[in-house]
Amino acid sequence: MWFELLVPVLLGWLAGLLVNYLADVLPFTRRLSQPACPRCQTPFRWADYLTLRACRTCGKRRSLRTWIVLILAAASFLYLWLFPRPGLGLPLSLIVLTYFGVIIVIDIEHRLILFPTVIAGAVLGLIAGTYLYSKQDGVLAGMLISLLGGVVGFAIMFLFYKLGEVVARYRARKMRAAGQAEDEEEALGGGDVYLSGVLGLMLGWPNVILGITAGALAGGAMGLLAVIAYLIQRRYAENSLMTFIPYGPSLVLGAFYILYFF
Ligand SMILES: [Zn+2]
Repeated sequence: MWFELLVPVLLGWLAGLLVNYLADVLPFTRRLSQPACPRCQTPFRWADYLTLRACRTCGKRRSLRTWIVLILAAASFLYLWLFPRPGLGLPLSLIVLTYFGVIIVIDIEHRLILFPTVIAGAVLGLIAGTYLYSKQDGVLAGMLISLLGGVVGFAIMFLFYKLGEVVARYRARKMRAAGQAEDEEEALGGGDVYLSGVLGLMLGWPNVILGITAGALAGGAMGLLAVIAYLIQRRYAENSLMTFIPYGPSLVLGAFYILYFF
């Protein structure tokens, strides 16, 4: 019946509201505070906030991101409802997808992986990983596979992080030599190390290797697109090549691909 399809669309819309809410408040207040207008800081009434009304004080409309997230969430929930993926099962698939949305939006907008989202992700990751791998050999074996994936995911990205520090030092030296002010860009943020651990818990061992590889490919593709965009705009400079790429979304995309489509 067609009206049954309203269920995933409505659930997706609610998940989109949750992603928007967390991305609106967590980076600023680090807690579940009342959302406020980004321009005039007037707190929203909940009814106004949830019905996507413009700010009553200054008239600022809701962000484009708000709408993109809602539409993508409703569409992807509908897709997973119609074409359920084997493995995680529908409820966990939808929850993990919502979690990925929160991580991606906050990382793109603030280049941050927030600590509360890492903790929540670790719990969710252990549950998802254990569920995925306990079907054959029981819960304990599943949990071990999940934990091993988490440790490996964390360790691999930790090595890259240390490598990134070396690159950052080299870059800072070059910028000083060129008389430019240093900036605070990190090649690979520390948050990505924790995120990689979380994704490792979900993917388990050895799929964590596949997930990180897919994430690196996605990151490389995004980096390549950035370079091409620079070349087209003739804004190419040596520094552009080292400009920060948000690795978080790439890692999440890689894990998403392995979890849902591999
Ligand atoms: Zn306002």
